[in-house]
Parts: sequence; C-alpha cells; structure tokens
Amino acid sequence: MKPLVKSRYIYQLEALDRRVSELHPQKERIGNKLRNELTGFRGEQALTFPLGLLPETDYGILHNPRLEDSNSNFFEIDVLLLSQCYILLLESKNWYGILLFDEDKQVIRIGDSGVEEGLPNPIPQVKLQAHRLRKWLNEHDFPQIPILYFVVISFPSTIIKPMYPHRPIPETVIHSNLLHFNIQRLNSQFQTLVVDKSGINKLSSLILEKHTDPDIDVLNKFHVEKDELIRGVICPNCNAVPMVLDNGNWHCSSCNFSSRDAHLLSLSDRKLLIGDRITNREAREFLIVNSQHQIKRLLMRGQYRFIGDKNKRIYIL
Ligand SMILES: [Zn+2]
Repeated sequence: MKPLVKSRYIYQLEALDRRVSELHPQKERIGNKLRNELTGFRGEQALTFPLGLLPETDYGILHNPRLEDSNSNFFEIDVLLLSQCYILLLESKNWYGILLFDEDKQVIRIGDSGVEEGLPNPIPQVKLQAHRLRKWLNEHDFPQIPILYFVVISFPSTIIKPMYPHRPIPETVIHSNLLHFNIQRLNSQFQTLVVDKSGINKLSSLILEKHTDPDIDVLNKFHVEKDELIRGVICPNCNAVPMVLDNGNWHCSSCNFSSRDAHLLSLSDRKLLIGDRITNREAREFLIVNSQHQIKRLLMRGQYRFIGDKNKRIYIL
C-alpha cells in the first residue's frame, strides 16, 4: 500500500554530489552519506521479494512510513506489515561480514579485512519504534493488537553468531531469506482476529494520510553555500558542464552531444537543493544562459505553473 521508492533525501544527496566540486571540503562527507543511504535502500529492496510472496489481500505492507507522535517528534519504520491478527515491524540492516550479537546489547561486525567495528544494536531501536507506534495507535483509537518485530539482515551470506555461547542470538534477528517462513510461524502463533480486512485498509489509509516526508535542507546540513554549487547544464553523455543553449537545443562542446531536455535535470537539482520557485533571472544564472527570451521559451515549453505577471513572474518547478 506504500511501495518502496528511493527517498527524496537520496535524490537530494545525488543532486548535491553532482553540484559540489571535488575540491569542496564537504565533498567526501556528501559522497559517504550518499553511499550509505544507497546501501540502506538496497538492503530494503532485499525485503521486497519475500514480502511479495505473501497473499496480497491478507496484508497491508507499507515501506518507510514516517509518523508524528504527540510530542511532535517523528519516527520512521522501514517496513510496517499489517495483518488481521498482528502488526509486524521490520528493521532492515544491510550489514555484511560476521556479526556478533550480545543479546540486545552490543553488536560487533567483523569485516573482510578482519577489522572489528562496534554497531548500535538494532533491537532496542525497533523496540522503541514498536512502543511509539503503540502510543500512536492508541491516540487514533485503534484496537489493541500485538506489535511484533524482526531485525532483518539483508544479505543471506552475512554470518550471525552469539558473542557468548551461553547467550543465544535473539530470535527476532533473522536473515531476509527466512522472513517468509518467520511470517508463517507468526500466523500460526497469532490467530486471534483483532481487525477485519477493511480494518487493515482503514489503518493503511490513515498511515498513508499521516505519513510526512522529511523536509531536509541539505545545503544547510552539509554546510554548502548556494553560490558554491556548480552552475550550468550538465551533459548527460559526458558530464561536462556547462552545455550551451542554441536554438532550443543544448550542445556540449566537449563531446558534441545535443539534447533538447538536458536542462530538466538541472532544474530538478535546483528544486531539490534550493526550492521549487525560480524567476527568469535565477534560471538564467543557474543554467548559464544570457538571453531572457530563450529562458522564457524554455520555461514556457515546460508548462510550469507560474505566479505574478511579466517580469515578476515566478515559475513553480
Ligand atoms: Zn558531453
């Protein structure tokens, strides 16, 4: 009911990475954050196959719902699965190598090179989300339903071991390829109907309605000034910048590539990084075009909505 999609934040990081020079002091931090977010996204993609095996009419599946609690704080869940008998939360972890679990305390990851790294244990994290969801459901008068959770390790090749032999790995930590069987197990364990199928739909719709995407000011977050962004239309063929607008066509002097739409990615970058409103003058600056008329034609061609008249016109991207 809410499919997995690449988050706006990943698109923002991609835009920022494109628009910040190699020499910028924040370049490495931006690249690392982008890689992290993309690996997380791929980890969640690993869940879509086992979840796709479930009979569609019996479950509501929502990826990355982000809800606001009564203290105006937000909590986000990787996957929320609703059945008639329980709610299951999935926290996806894309960790590879060897994982040593000390129950719900420490987690140590041993990577390929043998280096040990301490990681935050995901169990308290998902427990807290379950607690916050419980409160949220109470506030919305939803009947008392068991809230269960799994921490799902995305890659079946990741080895999970107990740190101490007498303290077993929590059974809520599973590999993604065992998710389907574990859901079957819950189905035989939890058979008391709490809601009917229309209840599943109603709650899914409510969550969709209350879901709020985070609004992240990435320039501020990564200490990049607006005027430090690389301006100009980037060549989709060779990444050279800027392309030159000639007769409504963008031309790359490095590789000779021409395109009518090459500016769309630049306008999208501007929207993701600065905002969705742009004047003719700002568009000329960002796309590096001298002619006011050429820019006007370009923006009119995009059929953007606009407010204001004539020279004070503001286009909404
Ligand atoms: Zn080119």
